[in-house]
Amino acid sequence: MISANQARIDICALKHNLRRVRQHVGQAKIIVVIKANAYGHGMLRVAQALKGVDALAVANIKEAIALRKVNVEDRILVLQGFISSDELSLIERHRLDTVIHHPDQIDLLEKTKLAKPIVVWLKIDTGMHRLGIDHSISVSALRRVSECRNTKQIVLMSHLASADDVANPYTEQQIRLFESLYQPFDLAASLANSAGILGFPRSHFDWVRPGIMLYGISPFHGGDGRSLDLRPVMTLMSRVIAINPIKKGELLGYGGTWQADQATRIAVISIGYGDGYPRQVSNGTPVLIRQRRFPIVGRVSMDMTCVDIGDSPIQVGEQVTLWGEGLPVEEIASRANTIAYELVCKLTQRVQFTSINEN
Ligand SMILES: *Cc1c(COP(=O)(O)O)cnc(C)c1O
Repeated sequence: MISANQARIDICALKHNLRRVRQHVGQAKIIVVIKANAYGHGMLRVAQALKGVDALAVANIKEAIALRKVNVEDRILVLQGFISSDELSLIERHRLDTVIHHPDQIDLLEKTKLAKPIVVWLKIDTGMHRLGIDHSISVSALRRVSECRNTKQIVLMSHLASADDVANPYTEQQIRLFESLYQPFDLAASLANSAGILGFPRSHFDWVRPGIMLYGISPFHGGDGRSLDLRPVMTLMSRVIAINPIKKGELLGYGGTWQADQATRIAVISIGYGDGYPRQVSNGTPVLIRQRRFPIVGRVSMDMTCVDIGDSPIQVGEQVTLWGEGLPVEEIASRANTIAYELVCKLTQRVQFTSINEN
C-alpha cells in the first residue's frame, strides 16, 4: 500500500543538532526533551537515536512508562511530576526523576512509603507563574524536601517565560532571581530551554533542557533554524494527485476564496488539515516542488490543498514538500499564525513516519 504523505525524520540532522547544543553549553549536562511524542517526531525513535544522553525529559508518567516498557534505560525526568501517592510510587518503581513544583507534592513525598529514595527536581517559580513553588517559600520547601527520607538528591530548577524574545529584559530578571535562590546552596541547578541555551549563556547552570532546537527549529520569534546552524529533522511530503486548468475569473475551492486573475494550472496536493497541515494558512503560503516554491491558493481542505503551478511542467505523482528540508517550518507556522512547535506536534495518524540517514 502506498501512503502519499510522509514525514521523514532525519536522524543525522538530529545528532547534528545535539552536537550544536553541546557546543553552546560546554560542560553542562543535557536533558533531551522528548515530551509530546518528541514534538511529533516519534518519542521512541528519538530516544533510541540519542541513546546515552545525560537524561531524557517527558511531560508525564505515562510517557515515561512507555519508554521503560520498551527498555529505554536512560535517566528520565517527569516534568509534571505526580498528583497522588500512587503516581509517586510509579515514579519510584520505574526509576524516574520527578519535578516537584507544588507544596502539595511535598506533602505526598513526606507521607508516601517508597521502597527507595528518588531524585527530586525542585521547581521554583521565578516569574512564569505557571508551575513552580513561589520563590518566597523556596528555602522552606527546600528544607522539607532535603529532610525527607524519600529524597535521594535535589536539583533546583525553574523555567524561562520569555526567552524567545532576546530583547525582553524579563529573562535577565528571572536569571538574577534564580541565581540568588540557588547560590546559598550546594545544589545542581537547571534553568535553560532552547532559547536560554542559544540566547542567554548565563542561564546554562549545570543542566540544560533543549527541546525545539534538537528538532532543528529556532526557538526565537521570527527566526529560523538554519541561521543558528541547526538542521531540520522533520520533512513533511505529499504528492500531486491531479492537475487542472482554471480559467480567468473562476473561483477555487470551498467558499471560492481565491479567484484566478488569469488562466493558469492548479496542482491538487493530497494533504490537508486531516493530516495536520494547518487550515489557517493563507493564499500564497509556499510549497516546494522540484526545489521551486509555488503558492497555495484557496482554502486548505481536509484531504487536499491546491497550488498554482502556472505553466511549469509538473506532473501527477510528483513529490511536494510542505515543510522541512528547503522550506523552513517556522515560515509556514508564521503564515498559520502559530509557532512551529504546534505544527510538528500536530501531524495525524494518516502521515507515515520514516527515519532517514540513520548511520
Ligand atoms: C518543554 C520544556 C523544555 C524545552 O523547551 P524548548 O523551548 O522546546 O527548548 C524545557 N523545560 C521545560 C520545563 C519544558 O516544559
